[in-house]
Amino acid sequence: MQPEPAIPSTSFMLWREMSDTYSRSKLGGFYYLFAWGLLWFSSSAPRQNLLLWGGGSLLLLGFFSLRRLHYPPEPQDPAPMRRWLAQHWSIIQLHALTWGLMLAGIQLHPGINASHLIIMLSVVVFGTAIAFTFPMRMASCALAILLVYLPSTAIKYWQGIGGIGESIALTIYLGYLGLFLYRWNGEYRVSLERELNLLQHSEQLDRLSRTDALTALGNRYQFNTLLPSWLASARRYDSNLSLILLDIDFFKRVNDKFGHSTGDLCLHAFAERMRQVFRRDSDILIRLGGEEFAVLMPDTSMEQAVQLAERFRVDLAAQPLELPGRGLPLTCSVGVGSYLPLCDDSAEAFYKRVDDALYRAKERGRNRLELA
Ligand code: GH3
Ligand code: MG
Ligand code: MG
Repeated sequence: MQPEPAIPSTSFMLWREMSDTYSRSKLGGFYYLFAWGLLWFSSSAPRQNLLLWGGGSLLLLGFFSLRRLHYPPEPQDPAPMRRWLAQHWSIIQLHALTWGLMLAGIQLHPGINASHLIIMLSVVVFGTAIAFTFPMRMASCALAILLVYLPSTAIKYWQGIGGIGESIALTIYLGYLGLFLYRWNGEYRVSLERELNLLQHSEQLDRLSRTDALTALGNRYQFNTLLPSWLASARRYDSNLSLILLDIDFFKRVNDKFGHSTGDLCLHAFAERMRQVFRRDSDILIRLGGEEFAVLMPDTSMEQAVQLAERFRVDLAAQPLELPGRGLPLTCSVGVGSYLPLCDDSAEAFYKRVDDALYRAKERGRNRLELA
Protein backbone atom coordinates (compact mmCIF):
# COMPACT_ATOMS: atom_id res chain seq x y z
CA MET A 1 0.00 0.00 0.00
CA GLN A 2 1.39 3.35 -0.97
CA PRO A 3 1.41 6.02 1.75
CA GLU A 4 -1.20 8.64 0.90
CA PRO A 5 -0.25 12.32 1.04
CA ALA A 6 -1.79 14.30 3.88
CA ILE A 7 -4.13 17.14 2.85
CA PRO A 8 -1.76 19.95 1.82
CA SER A 9 -2.65 22.82 4.12
CA THR A 10 -1.78 25.64 1.66
CA SER A 11 -4.04 24.22 -1.02
CA PHE A 12 -6.87 23.63 1.42
CA MET A 13 -6.70 27.17 2.85
CA LEU A 14 -6.60 28.70 -0.63
CA TRP A 15 -9.41 26.51 -1.89
CA ARG A 16 -11.60 27.39 1.11
CA GLU A 17 -10.88 31.10 0.79
CA MET A 18 -11.52 30.97 -2.94
CA SER A 19 -14.87 29.20 -2.63
CA ASP A 20 -15.98 31.48 0.23
CA THR A 21 -14.99 34.57 -1.75
CA TYR A 22 -16.81 33.37 -4.85
CA SER A 23 -20.01 32.21 -3.17
CA ARG A 24 -20.34 35.50 -1.26
CA SER A 25 -19.28 37.68 -4.16
CA LYS A 26 -21.64 36.26 -6.74
CA LEU A 27 -24.66 37.28 -4.64
CA GLY A 28 -23.24 40.63 -3.50
CA GLY A 29 -23.43 42.31 -6.91
CA PHE A 30 -27.23 42.23 -6.79
CA TYR A 31 -27.52 44.60 -3.80
CA TYR A 32 -25.75 47.44 -5.65
CA LEU A 33 -28.36 47.22 -8.41
CA PHE A 34 -31.11 47.23 -5.83
CA ALA A 35 -29.69 50.28 -4.00
CA TRP A 36 -29.25 52.12 -7.30
CA GLY A 37 -32.93 51.49 -8.05
CA LEU A 38 -33.84 52.81 -4.61
CA LEU A 39 -31.80 55.99 -5.20
CA TRP A 40 -33.48 56.45 -8.54
CA PHE A 41 -37.05 56.13 -7.18
CA SER A 42 -36.32 58.34 -4.18
CA SER A 43 -34.74 61.07 -6.30
CA SER A 44 -36.77 64.23 -6.85
CA ALA A 45 -37.35 63.64 -10.60
CA PRO A 46 -37.05 59.96 -11.50
CA ARG A 47 -38.40 60.58 -15.02
CA GLN A 48 -35.45 62.82 -15.88
CA ASN A 49 -31.83 61.85 -16.58
CA LEU A 50 -32.98 58.40 -17.66
CA LEU A 51 -29.76 57.94 -19.65
CA LEU A 52 -27.68 58.41 -16.51
CA TRP A 53 -29.82 56.10 -14.37
CA GLY A 54 -30.00 53.50 -17.15
CA GLY A 55 -26.26 53.72 -17.85
CA GLY A 56 -25.53 53.30 -14.13
CA SER A 57 -27.79 50.25 -14.00
CA LEU A 58 -26.01 48.72 -16.99
CA LEU A 59 -22.63 49.34 -15.39
CA LEU A 60 -23.74 47.70 -12.14
CA LEU A 61 -25.31 44.84 -14.10
CA GLY A 62 -21.92 44.40 -15.80
CA PHE A 63 -20.17 44.10 -12.43
CA PHE A 64 -22.89 41.76 -11.16
CA SER A 65 -22.30 39.47 -14.17
CA LEU A 66 -18.52 39.76 -13.95
CA ARG A 67 -18.56 38.68 -10.30
CA ARG A 68 -20.77 35.69 -11.16
CA LEU A 69 -18.98 34.66 -14.35
CA HIS A 70 -15.47 34.85 -12.94
CA TYR A 71 -15.48 31.14 -12.05
CA PRO A 72 -12.84 29.75 -9.68
CA PRO A 73 -10.32 27.28 -11.19
CA GLU A 74 -10.03 23.60 -10.24
CA PRO A 75 -8.52 23.37 -6.75
CA GLN A 76 -5.35 21.49 -7.70
CA ASP A 77 -2.43 23.91 -7.74
CA PRO A 78 -1.96 26.87 -5.41
CA ALA A 79 -0.73 29.17 -8.23
CA PRO A 80 -4.00 29.42 -10.25
CA MET A 81 -5.97 29.83 -7.02
CA ARG A 82 -3.72 32.71 -5.88
CA ARG A 83 -4.08 34.29 -9.33
CA TRP A 84 -7.86 33.93 -9.24
CA LEU A 85 -8.06 35.51 -5.78
CA ALA A 86 -5.94 38.48 -6.88
CA GLN A 87 -8.12 38.96 -9.98
CA HIS A 88 -11.36 38.64 -8.08
CA TRP A 89 -10.25 41.12 -5.44
CA SER A 90 -9.46 43.57 -8.25
CA ILE A 91 -13.03 43.14 -9.51
CA ILE A 92 -14.47 43.70 -6.02
CA GLN A 93 -12.32 46.81 -5.51
CA LEU A 94 -13.10 48.21 -8.94
CA HIS A 95 -16.78 47.63 -8.22
CA ALA A 96 -16.41 49.41 -4.85
CA LEU A 97 -14.64 52.35 -6.48
CA THR A 98 -17.29 52.57 -9.21
CA TRP A 99 -20.02 52.58 -6.56
CA GLY A 100 -18.21 55.26 -4.56
CA LEU A 101 -17.83 57.41 -7.69
CA MET A 102 -21.45 56.87 -8.74
CA LEU A 103 -22.67 58.05 -5.31
CA ALA A 104 -20.35 61.06 -5.55
CA GLY A 105 -21.56 61.69 -9.12
CA ILE A 106 -25.24 61.94 -8.21
CA GLN A 107 -24.35 64.27 -5.33
CA LEU A 108 -22.55 66.52 -7.82
CA HIS A 109 -25.13 66.29 -10.59
CA PRO A 110 -27.10 69.58 -10.69
CA GLY A 111 -30.24 67.91 -12.10
CA ILE A 112 -30.47 65.14 -9.53
CA ASN A 113 -31.67 66.04 -6.12
CA ALA A 114 -31.00 62.74 -4.41
CA SER A 115 -31.63 62.38 -0.71
CA HIS A 116 -28.43 63.10 1.23
CA LEU A 117 -29.54 60.65 3.91
CA ILE A 118 -29.97 57.79 1.42
CA ILE A 119 -26.57 58.51 -0.13
CA MET A 120 -24.85 58.44 3.27
CA LEU A 121 -26.77 55.27 4.17
CA SER A 122 -25.61 53.69 0.90
CA VAL A 123 -22.01 54.47 1.83
CA VAL A 124 -22.29 53.19 5.41
CA VAL A 125 -24.35 50.11 4.60
CA PHE A 126 -22.12 49.01 1.71
CA GLY A 127 -18.94 49.68 3.72
CA THR A 128 -20.32 47.51 6.54
CA ALA A 129 -21.49 44.81 4.13
CA ILE A 130 -18.03 44.60 2.54
CA ALA A 131 -16.35 44.23 5.96
CA PHE A 132 -18.87 41.61 7.01
CA THR A 133 -18.83 39.63 3.75
CA PHE A 134 -15.13 39.65 2.87
CA PRO A 135 -13.11 39.49 6.10
CA MET A 136 -10.77 36.90 4.46
CA ARG A 137 -8.15 39.50 3.49
CA MET A 138 -7.82 42.49 5.76
CA ALA A 139 -5.84 44.92 3.62
CA SER A 140 -7.80 44.25 0.42
CA CYS A 141 -11.08 44.54 2.28
CA ALA A 142 -10.07 47.78 4.03
CA LEU A 143 -9.12 49.27 0.65
CA ALA A 144 -12.52 48.30 -0.82
CA ILE A 145 -14.31 49.97 2.12
CA LEU A 146 -12.28 53.17 1.68
CA LEU A 147 -13.03 53.18 -2.05
CA VAL A 148 -16.76 53.23 -1.25
CA TYR A 149 -16.34 55.79 1.56
CA LEU A 150 -13.92 58.34 0.24
CA PRO A 151 -15.45 59.82 -2.96
CA SER A 152 -18.83 60.87 -1.55
CA THR A 153 -17.35 61.84 1.85
CA ALA A 154 -14.86 64.12 0.03
CA ILE A 155 -17.73 65.71 -1.93
CA LYS A 156 -19.68 66.13 1.29
CA TYR A 157 -16.80 68.06 2.88
CA TRP A 158 -16.27 70.05 -0.27
CA GLN A 159 -19.95 71.00 -0.49
CA GLY A 160 -20.14 71.53 3.26
CA ILE A 161 -23.19 69.28 3.63
CA GLY A 162 -24.03 67.37 6.79
CA GLY A 163 -22.09 69.39 9.31
CA ILE A 164 -19.31 68.56 11.75
CA GLY A 165 -21.47 66.22 13.85
CA GLU A 166 -22.13 63.89 10.93
CA SER A 167 -18.45 63.92 9.94
CA ILE A 168 -17.37 62.91 13.44
CA ALA A 169 -20.00 60.16 13.55
CA LEU A 170 -18.90 58.81 10.16
CA THR A 171 -15.22 58.84 11.17
CA ILE A 172 -15.93 57.04 14.44
CA TYR A 173 -18.01 54.46 12.58
CA LEU A 174 -15.20 53.91 10.08
CA GLY A 175 -12.82 53.30 12.99
CA TYR A 176 -15.24 50.76 14.47
CA LEU A 177 -15.53 49.07 11.11
CA GLY A 178 -11.73 48.73 11.04
CA LEU A 179 -11.76 47.10 14.48
CA PHE A 180 -14.56 44.72 13.50
CA LEU A 181 -12.77 43.82 10.30
CA TYR A 182 -9.66 42.98 12.33
CA ARG A 183 -11.71 40.75 14.60
CA TRP A 184 -13.73 39.05 11.81
CA ASN A 185 -10.52 38.40 9.91
CA GLY A 186 -9.00 36.68 12.98
CA GLU A 187 -12.15 34.60 13.48
CA TYR A 188 -12.20 33.61 9.81
CA ARG A 189 -8.55 32.45 9.94
CA VAL A 190 -9.16 30.48 13.16
CA SER A 191 -12.23 28.78 11.68
CA LEU A 192 -10.20 27.77 8.60
CA GLU A 193 -7.43 26.31 10.74
CA ARG A 194 -9.95 24.39 12.86
CA GLU A 195 -11.57 22.97 9.76
CA LEU A 196 -8.18 21.93 8.35
CA ASN A 197 -7.20 20.27 11.66
CA LEU A 198 -10.45 18.37 11.74
CA LEU A 199 -10.00 17.19 8.16
CA GLN A 200 -6.41 16.10 8.77
CA HIS A 201 -7.39 14.24 11.92
CA SER A 202 -10.23 12.41 10.27
CA GLU A 203 -7.99 11.55 7.32
CA GLN A 204 -5.35 10.21 9.71
CA LEU A 205 -7.94 8.14 11.57
CA ASP A 206 -9.27 6.80 8.30
CA ARG A 207 -5.74 5.83 7.23
CA LEU A 208 -5.03 4.15 10.57
CA SER A 209 -8.26 2.18 10.40
CA ARG A 210 -7.13 0.73 7.06
CA THR A 211 -3.53 0.02 8.06
CA ASP A 212 -1.94 -2.97 9.76
CA ALA A 213 0.14 -1.63 12.67
CA LEU A 214 2.96 -4.21 12.48
CA THR A 215 3.72 -4.14 8.75
CA ALA A 216 2.10 -0.86 7.62
CA LEU A 217 0.37 -2.84 4.84
CA GLY A 218 -3.37 -2.57 4.41
CA ASN A 219 -5.43 -4.62 6.87
CA ARG A 220 -8.37 -6.98 6.53
CA TYR A 221 -10.82 -4.11 6.87
CA GLN A 222 -9.32 -2.49 3.80
CA PHE A 223 -9.36 -5.81 1.96
CA ASN A 224 -13.02 -6.38 2.83
CA THR A 225 -13.86 -2.89 1.63
CA LEU A 226 -11.86 -2.96 -1.60
CA LEU A 227 -12.52 -6.48 -2.87
CA PRO A 228 -16.28 -6.09 -3.51
CA SER A 229 -15.95 -2.65 -5.09
CA TRP A 230 -13.04 -3.65 -7.35
CA LEU A 231 -14.88 -6.82 -8.28
CA ALA A 232 -17.92 -4.74 -9.24
CA SER A 233 -15.83 -2.46 -11.43
CA ALA A 234 -14.01 -5.43 -13.05
CA ARG A 235 -17.46 -6.81 -13.91
CA ARG A 236 -18.74 -3.47 -15.20
CA TYR A 237 -15.72 -2.67 -17.36
CA ASP A 238 -14.93 -6.28 -18.23
CA SER A 239 -11.38 -5.85 -16.91
CA ASN A 240 -8.98 -8.19 -15.13
CA LEU A 241 -8.70 -8.51 -11.38
CA SER A 242 -6.22 -10.95 -9.86
CA LEU A 243 -5.74 -12.02 -6.27
CA ILE A 244 -2.69 -13.64 -4.69
CA LEU A 245 -2.98 -15.19 -1.22
CA LEU A 246 0.23 -16.05 0.65
CA ASP A 247 0.66 -17.96 3.90
CA ILE A 248 4.04 -18.44 5.58
CA ASP A 249 4.87 -22.11 6.07
CA PHE A 250 5.36 -23.46 9.59
CA PHE A 251 5.44 -20.03 11.06
CA LYS A 252 4.46 -21.32 14.49
CA ARG A 253 7.89 -22.98 14.64
CA VAL A 254 9.59 -19.61 14.15
CA ASN A 255 7.74 -18.24 17.17
CA ASP A 256 8.42 -21.38 19.20
CA LYS A 257 12.10 -21.43 18.36
CA PHE A 258 13.08 -17.73 18.33
CA GLY A 259 10.32 -16.06 20.31
CA HIS A 260 7.34 -13.94 19.41
CA SER A 261 9.28 -10.72 18.87
CA THR A 262 11.54 -12.38 16.29
CA GLY A 263 8.32 -13.67 14.72
CA ASP A 264 7.11 -10.07 14.52
CA LEU A 265 10.38 -8.97 12.87
CA CYS A 266 9.90 -11.81 10.40
CA LEU A 267 6.41 -10.59 9.48
CA HIS A 268 7.78 -7.09 9.01
CA ALA A 269 10.61 -8.34 6.77
CA PHE A 270 8.15 -10.50 4.81
CA ALA A 271 6.02 -7.41 4.12
CA GLU A 272 9.14 -5.56 2.98
CA ARG A 273 9.90 -8.39 0.52
CA MET A 274 6.36 -8.12 -0.80
CA ARG A 275 6.82 -4.38 -1.38
CA GLN A 276 9.97 -5.08 -3.39
CA VAL A 277 8.23 -7.53 -5.73
CA PHE A 278 4.67 -6.19 -6.04
CA ARG A 279 5.60 -2.62 -6.92
CA ARG A 280 2.84 -1.30 -9.13
CA ASP A 281 1.05 1.69 -7.65
CA SER A 282 -2.28 0.01 -8.22
CA ASP A 283 -1.32 -3.22 -6.39
CA ILE A 284 -2.76 -3.28 -2.90
CA LEU A 285 -0.73 -5.25 -0.37
CA ILE A 286 -2.61 -6.55 2.62
CA ARG A 287 -1.86 -8.41 5.83
CA LEU A 288 -5.06 -10.38 6.28
CA GLY A 289 -4.08 -11.43 9.79
CA GLY A 290 -1.45 -13.64 11.52
CA GLU A 291 0.97 -14.85 8.84
CA GLU A 292 -1.48 -14.55 5.93
CA PHE A 293 -1.07 -11.92 3.25
CA ALA A 294 -2.82 -10.90 0.05
CA VAL A 295 -2.08 -8.89 -3.07
CA LEU A 296 -5.03 -7.40 -4.91
CA MET A 297 -4.05 -6.61 -8.51
CA PRO A 298 -6.43 -4.67 -10.77
CA ASP A 299 -5.91 -4.82 -14.56
CA THR A 300 -3.63 -7.81 -14.12
CA SER A 301 -4.10 -11.07 -15.99
CA MET A 302 -3.78 -14.50 -14.40
CA GLU A 303 -0.46 -15.07 -16.25
CA GLN A 304 1.08 -11.85 -14.97
CA ALA A 305 -0.09 -12.52 -11.42
CA VAL A 306 1.23 -16.09 -11.48
CA GLN A 307 4.57 -14.93 -12.84
CA LEU A 308 5.04 -12.36 -10.07
CA ALA A 309 3.77 -14.64 -7.31
CA GLU A 310 6.07 -17.44 -8.44
CA ARG A 311 9.01 -15.06 -8.54
CA PHE A 312 8.23 -13.99 -5.01
CA ARG A 313 7.96 -17.58 -3.77
CA VAL A 314 11.21 -18.70 -5.45
CA ASP A 315 13.15 -15.64 -4.22
CA LEU A 316 11.92 -16.15 -0.67
CA ALA A 317 12.92 -19.82 -0.66
CA ALA A 318 16.36 -18.95 -2.09
CA GLN A 319 17.16 -15.95 0.09
CA PRO A 320 16.57 -16.04 3.87
CA LEU A 321 14.79 -13.06 5.41
CA GLU A 322 17.32 -10.65 6.83
CA LEU A 323 16.67 -10.03 10.49
CA PRO A 324 18.98 -8.06 12.79
CA GLY A 325 21.93 -10.37 13.52
CA ARG A 326 20.71 -13.37 11.52
CA GLY A 327 19.21 -14.58 8.30
CA LEU A 328 16.07 -16.67 8.66
CA PRO A 329 15.09 -19.13 5.93
CA LEU A 330 11.37 -19.24 5.27
CA THR A 331 9.01 -20.47 2.60
CA CYS A 332 5.44 -19.66 1.80
CA SER A 333 2.52 -21.30 0.06
CA VAL A 334 0.61 -19.38 -2.57
CA GLY A 335 -2.83 -19.43 -4.17
CA VAL A 336 -3.46 -17.31 -7.27
CA GLY A 337 -6.71 -16.59 -9.06
CA SER A 338 -8.29 -14.18 -11.51
CA TYR A 339 -11.87 -13.05 -11.29
CA LEU A 340 -14.16 -15.02 -13.63
CA PRO A 341 -17.59 -13.43 -14.10
CA LEU A 342 -19.28 -16.76 -14.88
CA CYS A 343 -17.68 -18.52 -11.95
CA ASP A 344 -17.58 -15.96 -9.12
CA ASP A 345 -20.98 -14.52 -8.35
CA SER A 346 -19.69 -12.62 -5.31
CA ALA A 347 -16.50 -11.32 -3.71
CA GLU A 348 -16.78 -14.12 -1.13
CA ALA A 349 -16.98 -16.74 -3.89
CA PHE A 350 -13.89 -15.33 -5.61
CA TYR A 351 -11.93 -15.18 -2.33
CA LYS A 352 -13.00 -18.72 -1.45
CA ARG A 353 -11.79 -20.06 -4.80
CA VAL A 354 -8.31 -18.55 -4.28
CA ASP A 355 -8.22 -19.59 -0.62
CA ASP A 356 -9.01 -23.16 -1.66
CA ALA A 357 -6.02 -23.01 -4.03
CA LEU A 358 -3.82 -21.87 -1.12
CA TYR A 359 -5.17 -24.72 0.98
CA ARG A 360 -4.26 -27.17 -1.81
CA ALA A 361 -0.73 -25.72 -1.90
CA LYS A 362 -0.43 -26.49 1.83
CA GLU A 363 -1.84 -29.99 1.38
CA ARG A 364 0.44 -30.82 -1.51
CA GLY A 365 3.58 -30.13 0.48
CA ARG A 366 3.88 -26.30 1.00
CA ASN A 367 6.39 -23.94 -0.65
CA ARG A 368 4.39 -24.16 -3.86
CA LEU A 369 1.87 -22.24 -5.93
CA GLU A 370 -1.55 -23.49 -6.89
CA LEU A 371 -3.96 -21.97 -9.40
CA ALA A 372 -7.54 -21.23 -8.48
P1 GH3 B 1 1.18 -23.66 8.02
O1 GH3 B 1 2.35 -23.99 7.18
O2 GH3 B 1 0.15 -24.73 8.01
O3 GH3 B 1 0.60 -22.36 7.66
O4 GH3 B 1 1.72 -23.60 9.51
P2 GH3 B 1 1.80 -22.34 10.42
O5 GH3 B 1 2.55 -22.70 11.64
O6 GH3 B 1 2.35 -21.21 9.64
O7 GH3 B 1 0.29 -22.02 10.68
P3 GH3 B 1 -0.54 -22.00 12.01
O8 GH3 B 1 -1.89 -21.45 11.61
O9 GH3 B 1 -0.52 -23.33 12.69
O10 GH3 B 1 0.17 -20.96 12.92
C1 GH3 B 1 0.26 -19.61 12.62
C2 GH3 B 1 1.11 -18.98 13.65
O11 GH3 B 1 1.30 -17.59 13.39
C3 GH3 B 1 0.53 -19.05 15.03
C4 GH3 B 1 0.86 -17.74 15.67
O12 GH3 B 1 1.72 -17.94 16.76
C5 GH3 B 1 1.60 -16.98 14.61
N1 GH3 B 1 1.19 -15.60 14.56
C6 GH3 B 1 -0.01 -15.09 14.21
N2 GH3 B 1 -0.01 -13.76 14.32
C7 GH3 B 1 1.23 -13.39 14.74
C8 GH3 B 1 1.84 -12.16 15.08
O13 GH3 B 1 1.25 -11.08 14.95
N3 GH3 B 1 3.11 -12.17 15.47
C9 GH3 B 1 3.81 -13.34 15.63
N4 GH3 B 1 5.07 -13.28 16.02
N5 GH3 B 1 3.25 -14.50 15.33
C10 GH3 B 1 1.98 -14.56 14.92
MG1 MG C 1 1.19 -20.51 7.98
MG1 MG D 1 -2.21 -19.34 8.35
